Amino acid sequence: MNNCEQFRELIEAYALGALDTDERTSLDTHLDSGCVDCRKAVEEARTLVSHLAYLAPQQAPPSLLKERLMQMVRAETAAARRPVPFFFPRAKWAWLGTAAMIVLTVYLGWDAQRSRDEARRAKNNASEVQRDRQRLQEQLALAQREVSILADPASLRITLRPQNTQAPVLECAWHPELGIVLTGQHIPVPAEGRVLQLWLIPKTPGARPLPSRTARPDVSGKLVLSVFSLPTVMGKTKALAITEEPPSGSAQPTTAPIWVGGVS
Ligand SMILES: [Zn+2]
Repeated sequence: MNNCEQFRELIEAYALGALDTDERTSLDTHLDSGCVDCRKAVEEARTLVSHLAYLAPQQAPPSLLKERLMQMVRAETAAARRPVPFFFPRAKWAWLGTAAMIVLTVYLGWDAQRSRDEARRAKNNASEVQRDRQRLQEQLALAQREVSILADPASLRITLRPQNTQAPVLECAWHPELGIVLTGQHIPVPAEGRVLQLWLIPKTPGARPLPSRTARPDVSGKLVLSVFSLPTVMGKTKALAITEEPPSGSAQPTTAPIWVGGVS
């Protein structure tokens, strides 16, 4: 009677301690019945969560979990101003903070969506609930991949420095297999109808910059640009650069780079 598919979409929330009692009980029962695949999925989700150092107790109600996540983000902000414990290198801590913020953003969306789900369930609008859940699931999968790239020690850290502007630096993590996540805070928002575009500058002398994805910072200046499918490999790339381009991006840069970071 238990169907693995129906549990798959609950597993991340389960690992985060964010399921309601009924859902948690039914998933517990299913795991106790010995489903190897779902156990493995739970293990993976927990590994991800523990990467972020906030393994939430299963009993935590969503509001408590949210508070814990926010505490983590606040602690990270405070840690930037305090001497860092010798066992926790500053760089790693900073990246975990960024990762936690991404998860928090997605989690808050998840939380709000769950409230809407409740209202819709009451109206028996099952297909709409299903569609929303699927969209959230995709967002969560995206965030998981971003967090994996940010948290994995195998990722190369690249700092992109502003060229001739006062803009803050951008931090980038490039994982050889998983892709690139580039983040920035307090980034000046480009003019209406303009976007920031990432370029990969090849090592080959004279070769043209390879175009990659575009993004805009949100209203608070937070920028997250992730690329999972890259036009080249790390070993052939000399630098990453960001220019301002029209909304659909360009095939070749049409403005001077605002940020540049060497890949080494
Ligand atoms: Zn199962």
